[in-house]
Amino acid sequence: MIQLIRGFRDILPGEVELWQKIEREARELLERFGFREIRIPILEKTELFRRSIGEETDIVEKEMYTFADRGGEAVTMRPEATASIVRAYIQHKLYAPDPAKRLYTIGPMFRRERPQKGRYRQFTQIDAEILGVASPLADAELVFLLTSLLRRLAVEDVSAHVNSLGCAACRPSFRLALQEMLAAVSDRLCEDCSRRRVRNPLRVLDCKVPECREALAGAPSILEHLCGDCRRDFDLLRDALESLGVPYVVDPRLVRGLDYYTRATFEIQTGALGAQSAVAGGGRYDRLIAELGGPDLPATGFAIGFDRLAELAALNAPDLRPKPDLFLAALGEPARRAAFAWYCGLGERGVRVAMEFGEKSLKSQLKAADREGAAWVLMVGEDELARGSASLRDMRTKRQREIPLEGLVEKVAAMLCE
Ligand code: ATP
Ligand code: MG
Repeated sequence: MIQLIRGFRDILPGEVELWQKIEREARELLERFGFREIRIPILEKTELFRRSIGEETDIVEKEMYTFADRGGEAVTMRPEATASIVRAYIQHKLYAPDPAKRLYTIGPMFRRERPQKGRYRQFTQIDAEILGVASPLADAELVFLLTSLLRRLAVEDVSAHVNSLGCAACRPSFRLALQEMLAAVSDRLCEDCSRRRVRNPLRVLDCKVPECREALAGAPSILEHLCGDCRRDFDLLRDALESLGVPYVVDPRLVRGLDYYTRATFEIQTGALGAQSAVAGGGRYDRLIAELGGPDLPATGFAIGFDRLAELAALNAPDLRPKPDLFLAALGEPARRAAFAWYCGLGERGVRVAMEFGEKSLKSQLKAADREGAAWVLMVGEDELARGSASLRDMRTKRQREIPLEGLVEKVAAMLCE
């Protein structure tokens, strides 16, 4: 038997209803705040991700699904959505005449990481970006939207972590201080960090290896190196969150694994998913649009890990299994033909219908209707056809009533859809 590829997954009926609900809630919330959907391709030129995510990152160094297509071009299955959204923003000049654009997308991402609980090689993200807006209010809006979505899904045990990564004016002095500190503990760093500490020292703060975490105990804080503008923006973000009543923790160790982030950075963390604690992450990336060849415009955004969010939401989710409104139980071929026409007609008119297509006893059909949680059963056999009416049974009260066959679809639809 052929099984699916390691790190890939099926979302089965039973689980998919929650996925649909999350997607519905996310779309509704984002669209209420003026976000418009954008659908971007799964495959992009490798160069796009190399340039936007950065060479010295886990994603580009070892996680991308990259291959030469049949024409020899290096292509990559998108590991995240921001790069493509920015590419589209530039390519279609979405910045003109008004640069401010709120965009979102929902879809699969691909990273060849070590598969484990909460970590897959194909996973889904809900990605939202506010492009062309410099105000820290945009960052506050994103953190608010994340917490609001989690609240709507009754997710508990989460906290928002925020930090600032500074800008081109102030990050270099922090980088230097960090580099010096890392040089002093270099023998305690993992192999990746020993390499990164010189070229991308900020990434070391993000390392998950316990020995590195310990070695970093005395690391300097970026917040002590912020320039006046970055400090002012960070204070504005914190003020906005406080006045909205959004709880958060300032976490000076929080850096994003991607090179293009500047200033505000944030993450939603949970204690409920074991080692995979990040449910969503995001932040400002004021340099990316220009670096990818567009105008010099600021931007900020987030990505929610859908798989992890679904796992959290499942802890408090009600039973979402769809139940038929009406089960049609027919006995004998002529009755089944009549019932099939009603089945199609009622389904088309908005009734959730189910029907047994084989020849089964009434008892076993009633059992099936019960198993599926049908609210009503419409029973029809030879006798009913002869007397010109079918029996409609309320599965809760077990009471039955007769429905004339003449105009049955309209009558039952009106009854069940009211
Ligand atoms: P992590 O620290 O867990 O590796 P990350 O910093 O690589 O996350 P981002 O690139 O910021 O994650 O992606 C945003 C969100 O996507 C994460 O917070 C997480 O919930 C989810 N995510 C990232 N990688 C995976 C994966 N391999 N499988 C499932 N979800 C993932
Ligand atoms: Mg990662």
